[in-house]
Amino acid sequence: MIQFREVNKYYGSFQVLKEIDLTIGQGEVAVVIGPSGSGKSTLLRCINRLETISSGQLTVNDVNIHERGIDINKVRRDIGMVFQHFNLYPHKTVLENITLAPVKVLGVSRKEAEETAMFYLHKVGIPEKAKSYPSQLSGGQQQRVAIARGLAMKPKIMLFDEPTSALDPEMIGEVLDVMRDLAREGMTMVVVTHEMGFAREVGSSVIFMDQGRIMEQAPPSEFFANPREERARTFLSRLL
Ligand code: ADP
Ligand code: MG
Repeated sequence: MIQFREVNKYYGSFQVLKEIDLTIGQGEVAVVIGPSGSGKSTLLRCINRLETISSGQLTVNDVNIHERGIDINKVRRDIGMVFQHFNLYPHKTVLENITLAPVKVLGVSRKEAEETAMFYLHKVGIPEKAKSYPSQLSGGQQQRVAIARGLAMKPKIMLFDEPTSALDPEMIGEVLDVMRDLAREGMTMVVVTHEMGFAREVGSSVIFMDQGRIMEQAPPSEFFANPREERARTFLSRLL
């Protein structure tokens, strides 16, 4: 579903992604880990072309997304993204936050969009918050709204960039639970996270990045039992 082939990316003369080769199949959950500044967010943002690549090839759903002339908005409709900071519209209710894009972008009727929004609010466990404003919700609830908003576009891929990093510890679990359910239902996901329990339990593969390179890619059982790379071992030992 997602394939990087020898992808390089520079910011000026600084090379942020180096020779990235990566294939993520349908229904897989790729968990990306690594030190701060290693290029994890950049890698993720290339997948919906929030960042352009400098060379190589990146295909999403068989579309070469960095080719001239492709309809990037069409590609993006299939890709939901959830950020560390939830980026909800503060002056809109939860329901309005979720229905906005389906109505404006997909041309869905308001009634249908609201039904879909309620369906996903049930899914993330907070249907009673439909009429609330973001400021009236906890961080964990706001992040669950952000996930529901992503899902309401019926994407084929969901990208998560440190979705629990801004949350108080007691709220991390409720967001990871929603992501775990999503994985079980077969969503293709790329997740940047420091939650190693999640990586171990839910990941199809763990991708360890350092200084713009994928240093190691392995199933979680293998990676956590016996990381091959010295830098991966050092990284893990610092987290524990
Ligand atoms: P991570 O998510 O792993 O912390 P990032 O992908 O955010 O890493 O960043 C990787 C490197 O690229 C960092 O050294 C960062 O400072 C640099 N970087 C990120 N965005 C830009 C930018 N817009 N311009 C220049 N350098 C950037
Ligand atoms: Mg980042």
